[in-house]
Amino acid sequence: MINKLSKRINNLPISATLAMAAKARELKENGIDIIGLSLGEPDFNTPDFIKNAAIKAIEDNYNSYTPVDGYVDLKKSICKKFKRDNNLEYKPDQIVVSTGAKQSIANTVQVLVNPGDDVLLVAPYWVSYSAIVTLAEGNPIEIRSDISSDFKITPVQLQNSITSKTKLVIINSPNNPSGSVYSEEEYKALAKVLEKYPDIFILSDEIYEHINYGIPHFSFAKIPSMYDRTITVNGLAKAFAMTGWRVGYIGAPNWIAKACTKMQGQITSGTNCIAQRACIAALEAPVSEIKYMIDEFKSRKELIINLLKDIKGFKLNEPKGAFYVFPDISSFFGKTLKKKKINNASDFAIYLLEKAHVATVTGEAFGSPNNIRISYAASTENIKNAIQRIKNAVED
Ligand code: GLU
Repeated sequence: MINKLSKRINNLPISATLAMAAKARELKENGIDIIGLSLGEPDFNTPDFIKNAAIKAIEDNYNSYTPVDGYVDLKKSICKKFKRDNNLEYKPDQIVVSTGAKQSIANTVQVLVNPGDDVLLVAPYWVSYSAIVTLAEGNPIEIRSDISSDFKITPVQLQNSITSKTKLVIINSPNNPSGSVYSEEEYKALAKVLEKYPDIFILSDEIYEHINYGIPHFSFAKIPSMYDRTITVNGLAKAFAMTGWRVGYIGAPNWIAKACTKMQGQITSGTNCIAQRACIAALEAPVSEIKYMIDEFKSRKELIINLLKDIKGFKLNEPKGAFYVFPDISSFFGKTLKKKKINNASDFAIYLLEKAHVATVTGEAFGSPNNIRISYAASTENIKNAIQRIKNAVED
């Protein structure tokens, strides 16, 4: 059949995280005992006080279209959250609530990037950044980092990547997939470079803010010279175990927030009414309410690191946040494992799926071809079993 789809969709890569999760689901449905460590999704239930707020919203007949940029009282709660957690001053007209942080990112890129503009991505980066930039006809430009620098870039690397075409830089701390966290000093050093280029904008993705194991979270917009050109992206999915509720938001200069509202008004309109009411309860609660989940992620991180350290050929950094490990597995390239030749990280991830029945994600999708991503947002039992299976599959 002739392919009648647009070039836009034909050229769009499928999301590697979602594709691997779908593959794992399919195999499971066919009776294969797959352990899914591909998706970054907390295995906790949404806390009861948030669920109860949603039930009350239904009972109170919240069913109408919502304001495109979000309920005013939710935007006020977001402003309070920014002040409380990040010491950032935003007014409600600087906030746009969206259907997940993914939409917040897509809106921002759509309203800032012209065809041919360069957008700098710090590799490894979350899979959808580059596709979102490509959809806006921008050029995703990678700044590479690897395990030797704890997957962080230096000011010199940033400086060397900037050209007259650079429009936007996307940064992400705590980082998906590496778990790296930039300190205040490290971010200030990067900002020093950007101070010389007043026309460059910064999208700071802080969705893993609360899943942090030590280095204090620092918001890039907190740097006074950066505030007027930083779009701070956050959401409820990860810290509150609300991935399926789909609520993200930005804090941004008012003219950018207005543009994102205009974009969203033509594509999806306002975010789901019940989810927004539930988010008010989540954001108004003290952060201590979710500490039990963060503590659990921390102990799972220690568990998985200790187990992976024991596998020959896996090179690891210690994640400081988020819930992923991102081992360098390039020592397996060119080798044959149980009759299967491993040429690259995708081969390795497929090998693990087929032989160990463990779903992970290839590092190629994150701009880091020597690695695979393993999510430890899973039960300790699943983590232990999965790593044992991986060990059996890769060691003779
Ligand atoms: N952000 C999560 C991940 O990286 C969810 C899946 C997605 O939307 O990519 O696994």
